[in-house]
Amino acid sequence: MRTPMIAGNWKLHKTKNEAFELIRTLSPATLEIDDVEIVVAPVFTVLDAVAQVLNESNIKLAAQNCYPEPFGAFTGEVSAELLKDVGCDYVIIGHSERRKIFNETDLFINKKIHSVLDADLKAILCVGETLDERENGQMFAVLKNQLTNGLANLEHRLMDKIVIAYEPVWAIGTGRTASPQQAQEIHFFLRSLINDLFGPDVSEKTRLLYGGSVKPDNIDDLMAQPDLDGALVGGASLKSEDFLRIIKFKKSNSSFS
Ligand code: PEP
Repeated sequence: MRTPMIAGNWKLHKTKNEAFELIRTLSPATLEIDDVEIVVAPVFTVLDAVAQVLNESNIKLAAQNCYPEPFGAFTGEVSAELLKDVGCDYVIIGHSERRKIFNETDLFINKKIHSVLDADLKAILCVGETLDERENGQMFAVLKNQLTNGLANLEHRLMDKIVIAYEPVWAIGTGRTASPQQAQEIHFFLRSLINDLFGPDVSEKTRLLYGGSVKPDNIDDLMAQPDLDGALVGGASLKSEDFLRIIKFKKSNSSFS
């Protein structure tokens, strides 16, 4: 059984006080939840402060990015080593905003994945096609490249430190969600790819999150799909009420017990 994960990507939002406020609401409300892994990814500047208040909670800490070298003359960058030092458990790697705005390539993303694992952290690797790629029939090839290159040279045993997030670019921050069927089709494809790359045990165990305008009113239908193991949530993770409802998705039709 794969433990579902609900992860909130705060992107470039929340001052320290706003972050505290959100965590203060989320922490007590999630204390009893032991069957969903809950993760928040604040901006770098508040990671340390948030780590202190998460100590007593059920919520794990993620960073939104890292640089692939541990230390050195890389002005303005933050490494996985330093993220480990402030208490992160996860690092989001290859988010489509980083691929698009900062021109991150699969090769660079693969280096980051290795640096995260070298620092003894876990990675949430994001993959996803643009609308053009979907409409031009390139979707499966694009996803195959992103996944295969992103996970290149990875030892099988380390795959338990990798979570994959399928985030169709056309659904991120647009209010346009992939239908549960569209998401399931891709998740099934990604799981088959992982099976080809790493074998059936790894593919059965690897968690596949969906991301792209996940909201309280669509999470239940998404989570009812057999290959969806959770969600990476942007906008709706900034409001405690919405994020809590997403964390408490209804499991009645899903594959989770
Ligand atoms: C994201 O940033 O990863 C994301 C999925 O954003 P949103 O939920 O706002 O579409």
